[in-house]
Amino acid sequence: MSIKIVFHEDYFNCQYATDPAAAGGRLDGIMEIIKSRPELYEVIEPSPASEDDILRAHDRSHHEDIKSQALLYELSALAAGGAIMAAETACNGTPSFAVIRPPGHHASSDSCWGFCYFNNMAISLLKLYSEKKIKKAFILDFDLHTGDGNINILENRNDGFTVSILNPESTERGRYIQEVEAYMKKITDVDIFAASAGFDQGFEDWGHLLFPEDYTELGQLMKEYSEKICSGRRYAIFEGGYNHQVLGTNVDSFCRGFA
Ligand SMILES: [Zn+2]
Repeated sequence: MSIKIVFHEDYFNCQYATDPAAAGGRLDGIMEIIKSRPELYEVIEPSPASEDDILRAHDRSHHEDIKSQALLYELSALAAGGAIMAAETACNGTPSFAVIRPPGHHASSDSCWGFCYFNNMAISLLKLYSEKKIKKAFILDFDLHTGDGNINILENRNDGFTVSILNPESTERGRYIQEVEAYMKKITDVDIFAASAGFDQGFEDWGHLLFPEDYTELGQLMKEYSEKICSGRRYAIFEGGYNHQVLGTNVDSFCRGFA
C-alpha cells in the first residue's frame, strides 16, 4: 500500500510566529523519513485555500485579523489548502496525510489560540460538504489537547452536516487504544474518516503516553473501520507534536498502519 503525503516546501518557513509549532527544524525529521521511503510515500503539493474556502469555517473579522499579517496569512491559507488536498485525495480513494503547519484544531470561527490560526480540519470538511461529496464525518483527534476549534465549528451544526468527534481521554496506553476502537465500533454511517493527528501525546513528547507502535495501531484502526464503513475514505492532518527528535518516527509509525 502507499499513501499520499501533502507537503509544500513553504511549510519549512518558521518566521510566521514564535510559538513551538512554528519552531525551525520541526518538520525536517518528518520529511527526511518520508523522502527516504518512496515505495510507501508519494509527495503531492497543494495550493492555498481560497477566501471562500476559509470563510466556510471562519467569520470575516477573524479572516481579516489573520490577513493583516501577510506571512501568517500566506502560510495559514497554504496549510488550509493542504488539508483540502488531503480531504479531496481521500474522497477520490487514496489515503493521505497532510504534513502542514500552522496547525488548526484550536481555531474557532471567530478566534484562535494554541499556535493555530485557521481551522484546517473544518475548512477541509466544509469544502467537501459544500460540494455535496459528504454528509457525515468522523474525526479522531489524538492530539494531547482537545481540539476545541473542531468542536466549536463542526459539532451541533444546523445546516445538515453531521460531524462526530472523539478526543480520547484514557491516561493509560492500552486503554487509550481500546477507547478508540470501542468508539469506532459504534459508528454506522459516516462518509469519511479524518484524523487531527497531533503527536504531542507521544511517550517522548509532552504527554508521555503513546509509543510508536500505538500510533501504528491508531492508523490501523482508522484504516480498518473506514474500509468497513466508507470504502476506506480517510485522511489525517498534522496538528501538535514538539519533540523534533521523535516526530518523524511517530508520523511514520502512524502512516504505516494508516496506509
Ligand atoms: Zn496539542
